[in-house]
Amino acid sequence: MPALAPCRDYAPETVYQALEAAIAAAGGLDWVKPGMRIGVKLNLCTAKKPEAAATTHPAAAAALTKMLTERGAEVVLGDSPGGPFAAPLIHRLYEVTGLQLCREAGGTLNDDFGYTEVDCPEGKALRRFACVDWLRGCDAIINFCKLKSHGLMGMTAAVKNLYGAIPGTYKSEYHYRYEDPMRFSDMLLDLNEYIRPRLCLCDAVEIMEGNGPTAGTPRHLGLILAGEDPYRLDRLCAALLGIKEREIPYLEAAKRRGLLSPEEAEIAALAAPYALKDFRRSGATASWFARSEEDKGLMKLLKSGMYVIFRSRPAAGKDCVGCGKCARDCPAAAITMRRGRADIDRRKCIRCFCCQEFCPTGAMKVRRSLVAKLAGR
Ligand code: SF4
Ligand code: SF4
Repeated sequence: MPALAPCRDYAPETVYQALEAAIAAAGGLDWVKPGMRIGVKLNLCTAKKPEAAATTHPAAAAALTKMLTERGAEVVLGDSPGGPFAAPLIHRLYEVTGLQLCREAGGTLNDDFGYTEVDCPEGKALRRFACVDWLRGCDAIINFCKLKSHGLMGMTAAVKNLYGAIPGTYKSEYHYRYEDPMRFSDMLLDLNEYIRPRLCLCDAVEIMEGNGPTAGTPRHLGLILAGEDPYRLDRLCAALLGIKEREIPYLEAAKRRGLLSPEEAEIAALAAPYALKDFRRSGATASWFARSEEDKGLMKLLKSGMYVIFRSRPAAGKDCVGCGKCARDCPAAAITMRRGRADIDRRKCIRCFCCQEFCPTGAMKVRRSLVAKLAGR
């Protein structure tokens, strides 16, 4: 079972105690041995200050680093967000997101930007992929995610965080290759099964709602979560946000593959005292009509039709500054710059919402279809 611990704020002592309590309830750290090299995969999706709630908070990451170094482990922390996986960009990311706190706590910030093509023979959707070397070289991996709304998947927490095991420039290609939300989900599950983090943690002290995962609004939830596997931890996250599991394609896919044990009621009860009733989602509807392999005939047709009618689309708002980042990153080459604004070719767009995720000003928003608005969804 995953566990949670209340955490009022990011004051070093408070967050250390909350993390310690959550980890102890989820099985503890006795597996950590002196000299072990532990990779901590953070969520560093964008160069924003910690108060934007877009990235794993540095005080939480530093508290974990302290805990692990006290046990004699060697700790290396990092991530590979969208864009080039290269020293200048990643060093800036470390600086802006406040990760010097982890250095002060005895950890090392990853400086290895290599990657290797690895085979994933058990994969259902992913058989071979480019994996970052810094994670491959560790004795154990801790997945330390951030809880946020997400356009394509409904929310992002532990399962989606491991997408950062793929170097940034490859991610666009994978979005294109796994265009369907269920295929993308199967790819994410294959990644999680390949990497198999030893422990999963979630910074849910200040979460993000609305235009997530990079440009939404911070909201206080006041929790640190811990669990031995990413699927059940994310089930707990979904219950806390009040999102139905069937609306999160990768949880639906995990259930189908037998990766989620039948303890839904216990997890819902654990979440109940803290669960939000009015969490604002990203606005995207991609995850509502997640298709299942069991869907046949009329149901398959119906879901496909509903998906087309209800699906959301990205659109640049009037605060677009014309930087062109979305046009460079779009995996479908669907964006061109016209009169200083991003213009999207709807026929080419695959609704991956990368442009929304990586727009530095938050100008790229997810727009609901007219039908979805009228239906009140
Ligand atoms: S990334 Fe954002 S600000 Fe830059 S061109 Fe695209 S929509 Fe405009
Ligand atoms: S326009 Fe945006 S949502 Fe559409 S394919 Fe490009 S990056 Fe993805």
